[in-house]
Amino acid sequence: MLCGILFTVPTNASETDITLQLRWHHQFQFAGYYMALEQGYYQQAGLKVHIIPGAPEINVLQQLLQREVQFAVSASGALLAYLEGKPVVALAAIMQKSPSVWLVRGDSDIYTLQDLASRRLEMTLSQENTELLAVFAKEGFAINKLQLSSSSMKLDNLLSGKTDAFNAYLSNEPYLLQQMGMPYRVIQPTEYGVNFYQDILVGHADWLAQHPKQAEAFLQASLQGWRFALDNIDYSVAHIKQMYAPDKSSAHLHYEAEVLRTLVLPDLVEIGHMNPGRWQQIARMYHALGMVEQLKPLDKFLYSGPAEVVVDYKLLLQSVMLMLLVIALLSFFTLRFRALAQALSAEIARHAQTEQLLVERNQELLQLASTDMLTGLVNRRVIIQQAQAEIRRAKRYQKDLAVLMLDIDHFKQINDQHGHAAGDKVLIAFAELCKQSIRDTDLAGRYGGEEFFILLPEVDIKTAIMSAERLRLAVAEHEFVLTSGDVLHITCSIGIAMYMPLQDDLDKLLLRADQALYQAKHQGRNRCAVMQ
Ligand code: GH3
Ligand code: MG
Ligand code: MG
Repeated sequence: MLCGILFTVPTNASETDITLQLRWHHQFQFAGYYMALEQGYYQQAGLKVHIIPGAPEINVLQQLLQREVQFAVSASGALLAYLEGKPVVALAAIMQKSPSVWLVRGDSDIYTLQDLASRRLEMTLSQENTELLAVFAKEGFAINKLQLSSSSMKLDNLLSGKTDAFNAYLSNEPYLLQQMGMPYRVIQPTEYGVNFYQDILVGHADWLAQHPKQAEAFLQASLQGWRFALDNIDYSVAHIKQMYAPDKSSAHLHYEAEVLRTLVLPDLVEIGHMNPGRWQQIARMYHALGMVEQLKPLDKFLYSGPAEVVVDYKLLLQSVMLMLLVIALLSFFTLRFRALAQALSAEIARHAQTEQLLVERNQELLQLASTDMLTGLVNRRVIIQQAQAEIRRAKRYQKDLAVLMLDIDHFKQINDQHGHAAGDKVLIAFAELCKQSIRDTDLAGRYGGEEFFILLPEVDIKTAIMSAERLRLAVAEHEFVLTSGDVLHITCSIGIAMYMPLQDDLDKLLLRADQALYQAKHQGRNRCAVMQ
């Protein structure tokens, strides 16, 4: 007897194991499944498929219902099982027309079903062959009056005349009789309006519910295998002969393929197509035959595509949370960066402002460091600096340079008589007279206390004396008005010194100016003196 042959393709661990139970020996009848395996369609779908051949003693529906296999190739009897309450689901009907026929000898007088009704009929009594009996019921014959005997599975009885009709498969036994040269006729239920589907791909309802993706993948890969097999019959025949049915001749397999094409009708009907109305008709026929007690909706029998994808709400929630977290983080960093950028620009602006203030403060400090606070004239430090610069210039360009050293006469008395504030006022007014009496290129400064100093670049001795005298007179004639309203007249003494390039430095020049001043004081004050 034939035993199950296991065919596998190299697979990886994540593939799903699926076993398909065929309803008969390996032959072209199951070409689509072999070719799906051979072409790698199952493997591409992540399936590791094992194909088990059928045998007379194997009840394919039983194998399926006992969950020995995940899928099976069954006849329309699958519907009968369903109507009896079994969890069978039909996924695809490969043969649109049933190949189950009554086979009679060509030399017999049996031409019609009516002729057959009173004859000896040999058939496999199973749910798988019901169309051969259903056709009698349809034509009004009582099935229990038929002369049925169990099939011997061989054509011997038909050939020897022990039996009149044999239940055959259109693609199989007729070919054998042809080979023997034995004339035959077939009586087909389809001619009497009994048109059952055949070779139905069925699955167990529970397994399908548990493995919706794999079930759909297996169905699609199988149908793809069928399309390949019927489009490439020569190639498929060669493969099936080599791998599955070495005992069958290539010619027989070809014959089978051609008959199968007429039953699958791949050019007219989409392979695997099932019409619910036609299934309902088949169900009604079973009911009419008394083979089922009650009809019921077929919605659970007919595979309705992949089960709806079960939404993993937990995963969805986690994804949403993750996305929200990412968005929150991005927003946080964006805002943070914006705040930092704003803070940075504010800091830069503040720095610029501070820098500006510093520049201003420095200028102010420089001003303070250079200016005498009371009179607004440059102070002694600047006077010394500028005197040095003018000495260098005079030396380099051989220019004249005159300096005036001024001292207010008897100033102490002013303070003593009118107060220190009045003295300050006098100093301020005196400084103003100095400023007014000089050119832009000259420089007047407060040398200390009530002593003043004037630098006169490019001024000869004559002009220097004139300038000093003019200032002395201006001071002497000036009316110094005090806060009290009192009017004061003061005088000053002026020492004049000329820079002498060959022998002078600053100290010597200043000393001579001071000596000149001393001389003016000594000579009676309110006068100018020149130290040559
Ligand atoms: P002389 O004619 O010899 O120069 O007599 P003098 O009184 O001017 O001489 P002296 O140099 O002894 O006195 C100068 C006085 O000037 C002494 C000081 O109190 C006063 N003095 C110096 N600086 C200031 C100042 O900023 N304000 C006021 N009010 N008085 C000052
Ligand atoms: Mg003095
Ligand atoms: Mg004085």
